[in-house]
Amino acid sequence: MLNESVKNVKGVGDKLYEDLTGLGIKTINDLLFYFPNRYDNYEIKPLSELVHDEKVTIEGEVIGDPSLTFFGRKKSRLVINLQVEHMVVKAVMFNRAFAKKQMHGGDVITVTGKWDQHRLQITVSNYKKGRAKSEDPIQPVYPTKGNVTSKQLKKVMLNAVNEFGSKVEEILPKSYLQNYKLPSRKEALKQMHYPSSFKQLKHAKRRFTYEEFLLFQLKMQLLRKRNRESTMGNSQDYDSGRLESFIKGLSFELTNAQQRSLAEILKDMKSPYRMNRLLQGDVGSGKTAVAAISLLASTTAHKQGALMVPTEILAEQHYQSLTELFGESLDVVLLTGSIKGKKRKEVLATIESGQADIVVGTHALIQDEVVFRALGLVIVDEQHRFGVEQRKTLRDKGIYPDVLFMTATPIPRTLAITSFGDMDVSQIDEMPVGRKAIETYWVKDNMFDRVLSFIEKEVKAGYQAYVICPLIEESDKLDIQNAVDLFNQLQFHFQNKMHVGLMHGRLHTTEKDEVMKKFSDNEIQVLVSTTVVEVGVNVPNATVMVIYDAERFGLSQLHQLRGRVGRGEAQSYCILVADPKGEVGKERMRIMTETTNGFELSEQDLQLRGPGDFFGKKQSGLPEFKVGDMVHDYRALETARNDAQTIIYSNSLEADPSYQFLYKVLKEEVIDNPDTLD
Ligand code: ADP
Ligand code: MG
Repeated sequence: MLNESVKNVKGVGDKLYEDLTGLGIKTINDLLFYFPNRYDNYEIKPLSELVHDEKVTIEGEVIGDPSLTFFGRKKSRLVINLQVEHMVVKAVMFNRAFAKKQMHGGDVITVTGKWDQHRLQITVSNYKKGRAKSEDPIQPVYPTKGNVTSKQLKKVMLNAVNEFGSKVEEILPKSYLQNYKLPSRKEALKQMHYPSSFKQLKHAKRRFTYEEFLLFQLKMQLLRKRNRESTMGNSQDYDSGRLESFIKGLSFELTNAQQRSLAEILKDMKSPYRMNRLLQGDVGSGKTAVAAISLLASTTAHKQGALMVPTEILAEQHYQSLTELFGESLDVVLLTGSIKGKKRKEVLATIESGQADIVVGTHALIQDEVVFRALGLVIVDEQHRFGVEQRKTLRDKGIYPDVLFMTATPIPRTLAITSFGDMDVSQIDEMPVGRKAIETYWVKDNMFDRVLSFIEKEVKAGYQAYVICPLIEESDKLDIQNAVDLFNQLQFHFQNKMHVGLMHGRLHTTEKDEVMKKFSDNEIQVLVSTTVVEVGVNVPNATVMVIYDAERFGLSQLHQLRGRVGRGEAQSYCILVADPKGEVGKERMRIMTETTNGFELSEQDLQLRGPGDFFGKKQSGLPEFKVGDMVHDYRALETARNDAQTIIYSNSLEADPSYQFLYKVLKEEVIDNPDTLD
């Protein structure tokens, strides 16, 4: 009934129907659940409770005659003195000269508008003669698009709620409503549209927030369970003896966190389920070591392993370190976009024949022409740069390997349980012993000379420095230093003292390699670069990271950049050069100087920037919630997840009658829809 056309609602004609479709409203149900995005408050509050710049309503007695002045062509300003409590408040109306005649000393009027606390003045948008009616002081305002107005929506909504509101069915189990003190669905719906008080509205929102979080988490948990139980996975029977002797041969001992994560990964690999796991760990926490051991495990099970990274530079670095690590014992190959012609054919052949044990590469690694003999494990580094697309490509090739995503951008818990709710998570939350914390300083632009002296001092002591700036091209609009200018400036400043190199995204791969190699070999002491060095690059002799225009970066990105130093024995430094204008910018610089923990930073980043900006808009893949806000309503999200897990893993979703409505919703959206299966 509620999924019948919205045309059945009184007041919805053909024209309005079309406009509503533009808002995504097709059925009665769609309309009923089209919620206001804000509420106007016509509630009369004491003057002392009014908030500057907010829309308020006040009631007062007109003192004397209003004064009217004209200005410009046909523009007017009407000022009415109102006695409110014991104060005189000015009510200002623009271009409503006609109202003058309606106001006389001693009349009581009610005005709504923007409140100016300093001048005790209200700029009137609505007024009426007489006292405010006490009913319905809270009026909904609906988000609109195209021709529909909020007023129109308000009108048809009233009809819809009156006629169909009582048909809305509860979907949450009774016990949940009781435990969480949530209003029924019917009642909450009414309150969303016609709140009887802000308190009731809050409860209604709380209810729908929980409801949508629960449904979302149920979907995620269902997918996770299905994925785990999918027979499409592979059981990799690795040789634990060989792993142990390899680990013994390492120049360090694995930290507890590394051991724990490794055990979790190996367990998944051995099980017949397909692994879908996220390995999180701060820069330098030793993820790559864990990845390498996992790849080795796969090869001992006579499978191939693949390591996918976001850039060619990184691919080459990983390739080199894996080659060194495994020596002759394994055949590691490199496959990137710039490996072409005969060489490429050779590499492809070794992958197809199975001679290649481990393939390291960029996304080129999963292109059509690449055929694996037996791909057992795929490790994807910096997961948020790889989209759903790449996963699908593998699937389409009929390959269902165990998949491990690694990220050094610690994902805030909040996002981890939404965007990665269908994944298992391993966390390396411990640094190898003996690591020195990187000292971080924030300096203003005008201190740059001193920064240069500091670089010089470190270089004299045998170390190296990065100088990072945000963009590579001069832009009129953005007053930012560009890498090329900075490079020229530094080269001049340091001439005859040291070598300065330049690195940016527009260089050819071979040029980049050359620069990187020179920096690695300490033939270049100062590397001026854009953020291409952000991820993974490893030059342990570098001890200084200078970040120019640091206010232009997000906290997580700054943290990534900072992680390029502090990789060796020596004390390292990060210097943020920034003149942030706003408070938020200053706050971010302060946080950077005080916090070295990536998880903490990412939480703060999320708070300051919001989820949309955290990963960058496009890549976010974040769910959109109508009522709930995953940052502010985090606790509800967590509760919903626990409840969803209980429901799914007790296998009672279908059987338990109290879940019957949840089951119905999920059946339509997920259970009967094979496309949602990863
Ligand atoms: P991540 O990939 O998390 O940034 P890496 O795996 O590259 O970190 O490790 C950073 C550095 O620390 C490497 O030089 C690596 O050899 C070293 N390392 C890794 N694990 C340990 C450990 N348990 N103890 C000491 N050093 C380690
Ligand atoms: Mg497995």
